[in-house]
Amino acid sequence: MFENLSDKLDRAFKVLKGQGSITEINVAETMKEIRKALLDADVNYKTAKSFTDEVKQKALGENVLTTISPGQLLTKIMNDELTALMGGSTSELNFPATPTVILIAGLNGAGKTTFSGKLANFLKTQKNKKPLLVADDIYRPAAINQLQVLGEQIGIPVYANLESKDPVAIAREGIAQAKQNGNNVVIIDTAGRLAIDEAMMREIEQVKAAVNPHEILFVVDAMTGQDAVNTAKVFNERLDFTGAVLTKLDGDTRGGAALSIKSVVNKPIKFIGTGEKMEALDVFHPDRMASRILGMGDVVSLVERAQQQFDEKEAAELQKKIRKNKFDFNDFYSQIQQIKKMGNMKDLMGMIPGVGKMMKDVEIGDDAFKGIEAIIQSMTPYEKSNPDSINQSRRNRIAQGSGTKLEEVNRLIKQFEDMRKVMKQVSNPAAMANLMRRMPK
Ligand code: GDP
Repeated sequence: MFENLSDKLDRAFKVLKGQGSITEINVAETMKEIRKALLDADVNYKTAKSFTDEVKQKALGENVLTTISPGQLLTKIMNDELTALMGGSTSELNFPATPTVILIAGLNGAGKTTFSGKLANFLKTQKNKKPLLVADDIYRPAAINQLQVLGEQIGIPVYANLESKDPVAIAREGIAQAKQNGNNVVIIDTAGRLAIDEAMMREIEQVKAAVNPHEILFVVDAMTGQDAVNTAKVFNERLDFTGAVLTKLDGDTRGGAALSIKSVVNKPIKFIGTGEKMEALDVFHPDRMASRILGMGDVVSLVERAQQQFDEKEAAELQKKIRKNKFDFNDFYSQIQQIKKMGNMKDLMGMIPGVGKMMKDVEIGDDAFKGIEAIIQSMTPYEKSNPDSINQSRRNRIAQGSGTKLEEVNRLIKQFEDMRKVMKQVSNPAAMANLMRRMPK
């Protein structure tokens, strides 16, 4: 996410790094570089200019008061200003009524239907809501089907009326059904067009007037940069939406949309989409995003993702097993599955401070664990729960069965054993104290 921008900002900061103090001259030079980096990232020209003017003023103003280095000072100012640029604080969804009605708008291909599914899934699993999805795209039967398939996958009901050609009526029927079935949130996925189109705008205005939604979320593809911001402007003028959703931030988007939307339309970004899977949705936190752009990682989000995936009861069970040295390949396998659910590996790595930059050119796909999984899957149930039983001939068989090399099987088992040893020590206070005593002072 935003690797290019991070890189260029980093280079811009270099001008100041070796310098003892901030002066008009070195700040002007740095600001020129920062502005260039922002424009390259497809940030709106006016936004880039007012942003750098602001940062420059702050940098020159604070100089005399601080003892930290100019580079550190600028990082701090940039962090504050980028956070402010993206909206300052996190903007949550509101649920003022039962059912709360959320209207989803945007162009075709922006990711509306995918987001509708992700949002329903998020509200169900994280916010304890009972959502109903409404398929309100009367032009593309495939879109209705797509929503139904998603609904099935995440266990959320979908209201559709294939007979009707009246989006206002379908939206109303959906809300009536939600009331009847006790759904407390209604998410209406509307029809888009390839480009802004008067008929589409009128139609969605009519739906808005009829159902009076509590939230209108405008979905836009972050990869489209400045176009995303222009489209947001038009939709906002017509619909006065309550928040934007940026999708496809997992791709190599340059970041311009995320940085300009708030300043251009004055509406908060509420969510970001980071993949095609239903779990690939994040609440947008301006401060965390600023920190990521500046290459400072985002540990808070990383921990939160982990908390969402790991069940407390399961964790307690696991601890018990580790203490008794009963941690086996079944546990190992299920741990890998949970890590995979946390999201794209490269994205996760980018949340660890400093690691994002280091991993920039390393390709880690979704199949990073494939070899390990194949090896574990080729073990018999007995072997999985009795790792000590895996002798040489068993290892040969496992390598063959999993299509891997014997060395790979050996390496995995060795790593597994090492891990068990450390786990056992960490879970045993006496052994841990012993270990600490032996650490070099
Ligand atoms: P709609 O026409 O606005 O309803 O768009 P869709 O929901 O059908 O999405 C269009 C395409 O974008 C589909 O192939 C989705 O899988 C993909 N997509 C949606 N959101 C994301 C995202 O956050 N990341 C990635 N990589 N793909 C996405």
